[in-house]
Amino acid sequence: MPALLEIRGLSAGLRGRRAVTEVVSHVDLDVQAGEILGVVGESGCGKSTLATAIMRLLVPPQVLQSGALTLRLNDGKTFELLKLSESELRELRWRHLSYIPQGSMNSLNPVLRVGRQMMDTLLQHGLSSDEAYKRSVEALELVNLERKLLDSYPHELSGGMRQRVIIAAAVSMRPALIVADELTTALDVVTQRQILQELAAIRDELGATILLITHDMGVVAQVADRVAVMYAGKIAELGTVNGIFEAPLHPYSQGLIGSIPRGGGQRVEGLPGEAPSPWNYPSGCRFHPRCPQAFSPCQEQAPALLPQAAERWTACHLYDAEVAADA
Ligand code: SF4
Repeated sequence: MPALLEIRGLSAGLRGRRAVTEVVSHVDLDVQAGEILGVVGESGCGKSTLATAIMRLLVPPQVLQSGALTLRLNDGKTFELLKLSESELRELRWRHLSYIPQGSMNSLNPVLRVGRQMMDTLLQHGLSSDEAYKRSVEALELVNLERKLLDSYPHELSGGMRQRVIIAAAVSMRPALIVADELTTALDVVTQRQILQELAAIRDELGATILLITHDMGVVAQVADRVAVMYAGKIAELGTVNGIFEAPLHPYSQGLIGSIPRGGGQRVEGLPGEAPSPWNYPSGCRFHPRCPQAFSPCQEQAPALLPQAAERWTACHLYDAEVAADA
């Protein structure tokens, strides 16, 4: 079955004074209808740039360098996102494609009531006042908030409630795809868990597809169906959450999973070193300066993302029989 969102050869970068550097490099990824796909990696790995490129919201000095993005809706309509005009994009956003940017719970207008802010967007998309009110109430209920909250000002709400309002606004048009960037980062663990449960319920009730951008493998483990592990602008490993957590293949995935705090006084194995700057990506495998399993080809040759088993792709020479045999 064709993917809801097909990402092909997507590269996006930063324009400097003398050159453009790639932040996201030739990403190929299929987001399947109805799934929650986690995109995980350390700060600076390119995951937020990937999200904003998908939304066509890159701002200078960010630049889109190449690629294709195809959105296929259930009703058969297909959109080539990189070819749409600004007005076509405005029509598509919220209605079919919704975005929850990082830190958005602080983006509510402090002088306007929540209801006015939620309904304004719906009115702009042609809904009547009655329909906009009804949709706003329904959306709030999806995140376990009462309708009376429509009369509140943002400062009267806790951080968790503000984040829920943002989620409710993002799903109020019942979009096919929701791109959420670091949705729960600033929240305590209890609120984080509740919001992730609500997100899963939204997927189930609305049949939405969710691309969840996060630095936190624990978040992915709680809610995602599949995970794409990103490192230095590339997909390092892609697979089901169960498959990757039970047996991570890529040394970077192993390091990320080893970094998750566990109970029972178990030692947390951190990743050595830091993620590289896009202006200074290492040659060959970009992970090689930090990789405990690096071997001779790793400094020179960039590994390709290759299928390893059902629903598993890894970009690592250890799993490329030809490269490993020549080493
Ligand atoms: Fe490590 Fe080499 Fe695999 Fe890169 S290709 S992750 S450096 S073993």
